[in-house]
Amino acid sequence: MSADCLFCKIGAKQIPAKIVFEDADVFAFADINPQAPTHLLICPKKHVASLHMAEANDQAVLGKMALVAAELARERKLESGYRTVMNTGAGAGQTVFHLHMHLLGGRAFHWPPG
Ligand code: 5GP
Ligand code: ZN
Repeated sequence: MSADCLFCKIGAKQIPAKIVFEDADVFAFADINPQAPTHLLICPKKHVASLHMAEANDQAVLGKMALVAAELARERKLESGYRTVMNTGAGAGQTVFHLHMHLLGGRAFHWPPG
């Protein structure tokens, strides 16, 4: 856990959030400012600032994040389509520097993204 990291504090239950999944490695919770009817954030419990800072020993947790996103999407019947996004770096819109995958669903999505 990194001091002063919002998502580490959510993972440690020091700041409340609607947690929808948790295991030893990963937790997922509802985004406070949803951009779609389903908007969840999937995080590693280990503090990693961004995908850019991930290392070889983060391979398994990165894979688990993707599989958790797919399972959360299946639970929510998002089979018509959903978007998984990792914003990496301020220039790509990352605002919280604890690695997270957005899971967005329940509306149409366009390509290219903004
Ligand atoms: P980013 O911009 O870094 O890719 O995504 C950060 C996300 O975290 C944003 O979608 C934002 O709405 C969400 N967020 C920021 N602060 C909080 C919070 O305190 N609680 C929750 N549940 N989500 C947050
Ligand atoms: Zn953190």
